[in-house]
Order: sequence, then C-alpha cells, then structure tokens
Amino acid sequence: LPEYAFIGRSNVGKSSLINMLTSRKSLAKTSGRPGKTQLINHFLINKNWHLVDLPGYGYARVSKSSKKVFQKFITQYFGLREQLVTAFVLVDIRHKPQPIDLEFMQWLGENGIPFSIIFTKADKLRPKAIENHVEDYKTILLETWEEVPNYFITSSSKDIGRDDVLKYIDGLNENMELN
Ligand code: GDP
Repeated sequence: LPEYAFIGRSNVGKSSLINMLTSRKSLAKTSGRPGKTQLINHFLINKNWHLVDLPGYGYARVSKSSKKVFQKFITQYFGLREQLVTAFVLVDIRHKPQPIDLEFMQWLGENGIPFSIIFTKADKLRPKAIENHVEDYKTILLETWEEVPNYFITSSSKDIGRDDVLKYIDGLNENMELN
C-alpha cells in the first residue's frame, strides 16, 4: 500500500495533526512532553494507505547520541521507502524558516524524495502573519529549487486543513491506481 510519511521537529504538533487526520484519538497519543514519539508507527487509513509517523528530529534537549539514533532511523526509513509516495514535513507556522527544517528539506530533495510542507498551529497567528511566514519560506526555497513544494496550512486545535491534506493524499492514490 502507498505510504505517506509525517515528520518534523519534536513539539511541532505532529501527534495532534495525526490525531486530527485519523480522527481516532487513541491512535497517536499527544503529549505535552516534547520528543516522545520515538519509534516509527504505521497507521492504516481507509484500508488503502499507510500513514507513517516518523520520529521528531532536532529536539535540543535530547542527547547527541539519541539524535544520532533518530537520524539513523530516519535515514534507514527513507533508504527503504519502496511504498513512500510523499513525505510531509511539518513546520510550526509561528517561526521564521529554521535551518534544521530547511536542511532536512534540502536532504529530501537531494535524495529525490518528494515532499510537501505542512504548516502547523495556524490558530496561533493572524492571517497576515501566516501569509508573511509562508512567503518567507517560499523565498528561501526558491533560492534552491525551481518551484515551491505543495503546502498546507493546518490547525489541529481548530480543525483547519484536515480535508485539504486528506484530499491531496486521495488524489495521489487515485493517480497511482490509474497508472
Ligand atoms: P509532537 O511532539 O510534534 O507530536 O507535538 P504534539 O502534537 O504533542 O503537540 C505539541 C504541543 O503543541 C502540545 O502542547 C499541543 O497541545 C500543541 N499543539 C499541537 N497542535 C496545535 C495546534 O494546531 N494549535 C495549538 N494552539 N497548539 C497545538
């Protein structure tokens, strides 16, 4: 089955987003404690695709050695990604583009791994500020890439963006069935 991987810095809101997308609160537990999602979890959605929950990267408070373990997991996953259609890189809309996220996107691009961006926690910013932060990302990405990847603006607490993400995934799945 096709797979869609979700990844981002710890505390970006990944568990909350996965809960929103799956609408099954028991599946991916949210935690107030950052860095808790440590293993790779697969969720079967609609019996026709897998949502892959990858460990959070770059959390400042984890030790260097556990960062290495995370990186190893992540690189191993992407090395074997036979079923992977697209990775969703989550970034917190409140922050200006962060080097660690940009480096990760760069790495995906260099390895030929398609990705989209999911901006999280949109309820925390005014629309104008959201627009500005998205523009900042676009500007930086266009310095390296010819086009901006697909992106989604979401809020798990206000239930924003759920259908956009799910429709996008369904569309890709349908395309693959046609080919
Ligand atoms: P993870 O570490 O990336 O899995 O992040 P979590 O889903 O556990 O969320 C980290 C923190 O951000 C928690 O305190 C959540 O309540 C909060 N959070 C997550 N998503 C949202 C959102 O869309 N809006 C707001 N306001 N807070 C959020």
